[in-house]
Amino acid sequence: MGNRRLLILDDDPMTGKTIQRIAEFAGLEVHFTPDPDRFFALLHNWQPTHIALDLLMPTMDGMQVIAQLAKLSCRAKIIITSGVGSRVLDAAGRSAAEHGLDIAGVLAKPFSPSQLRAMLLGHLPTTPPLTPPTVVIAPAALPEITLSDLHQALDRQEFVVAYQPKVLCTTGELAGVEALVRWAHPSYGLLPPGQFIPLAESCDLIDRLTDQVIDQALDWFGPLCDGAIQLSPAICDRLMLSVNISARTLTNVALFERVQERCQAHRVAPARLIFELTETSAMDDPVASLDLLTRLRMIGFHLSIDDFGTGFSSMLQLVRLPFSEIKVDKSFVMTAMTSSESRTVVKFIVDLGHSLGLRCTAEGVEDAETLKYLTNIGCDLAQGYYIARPMTGDDFWLYGNEYAA
Ligand code: C2E
Ligand code: CA
Ligand code: CA
Repeated sequence: MGNRRLLILDDDPMTGKTIQRIAEFAGLEVHFTPDPDRFFALLHNWQPTHIALDLLMPTMDGMQVIAQLAKLSCRAKIIITSGVGSRVLDAAGRSAAEHGLDIAGVLAKPFSPSQLRAMLLGHLPTTPPLTPPTVVIAPAALPEITLSDLHQALDRQEFVVAYQPKVLCTTGELAGVEALVRWAHPSYGLLPPGQFIPLAESCDLIDRLTDQVIDQALDWFGPLCDGAIQLSPAICDRLMLSVNISARTLTNVALFERVQERCQAHRVAPARLIFELTETSAMDDPVASLDLLTRLRMIGFHLSIDDFGTGFSSMLQLVRLPFSEIKVDKSFVMTAMTSSESRTVVKFIVDLGHSLGLRCTAEGVEDAETLKYLTNIGCDLAQGYYIARPMTGDDFWLYGNEYAA
């Protein structure tokens, strides 16, 4: 077992000491402090691999500490503890995960030593779990991106596509792949989409970007469909390609006509393509969306509602728009094993999807237990770091081959 160091912040000495004893017994080095300033000093100097954090403290509340940890891009595994109700704890855990922190679990006090031990002895991240290894994300080093940078990047075709597999829950068979854009920035390396998609969306460059992404993805995917790339026939016949579409693009009929032409040129059947729309984006202009989306479905393209569970749209929209897939948002999937509330949401969405005749994909599957749980509740497809991280197109074909072997 690697060198595990646990740093405890808790205003209650009894609890702090108890956690310390259990952790030391489990073989960890431990520092306990009730003082937030000392906590941050130790964080910096001692670099703990794990943190146990009390949510309710008199001088600084746990949520502030969480915000501060996020600002510092803390990579330690965090265990949140508190005497507040488990729903509040769950909410805090989700919020921390949304801040980009790595949450090992939430512990409602009183907790059993075995619960704590399980969180402390879980796998240590070999790579930071929130960041694909090739993506630069250190906030301090992040560039200020301007509109003209984006224009230039589009002109120079600096955007590249990474591919992440989707597998059938029941058999683990490869069933699909999602295209995820990255910016191969000449000075900053690979930048994740969160760094530039919002700007591209706000200044009407998103359609050009989407166009380039789809072009690249089809250039890559086409050879599979016309037999130039050989994978096992079962994979060739089944593999679907998902691409992300912004709400704004839903008014651009010409873009979709071009996609249709590109599909014909590559002999990719429209039914091989899934357009993923986020729940909220699809709802921005339901009437216009309905028109275009219905046409796309009639051509044969599939439509997926992405990040389901995070928006506030009415369920009726889901029924009105002709989706064929529902993707359970990763914030619920990633916390399913530690939060009964998340499990309730995941199961609810899977059942809802099935009752509407949709295929359900859970994304953000990071461990075997979650995959097993998803299989048990009848979820169709899984995507996540446990299965594979996003990879280059070439690596994907290697993956597909190894996988078939
Ligand atoms: P998304 O569509 O929800 O894509 C899934 C994101 O989850 C990807 O992040 C993927 O790398 C990440 N992910 C997959 N499995 C796991 C896991 O097990 N754990 C964790 N923590 N994360 C996982 P990525 O590539 O950074 O993309 C972020 C978002 O950027 C995407 O979220 C999508 O909304 C947007 N995006 C990506 N490519 C495009 C694009 O071509 N066009 C548009 N409009 N948006 C895009
Ligand atoms: Ca997506
Ligand atoms: Ca998603």
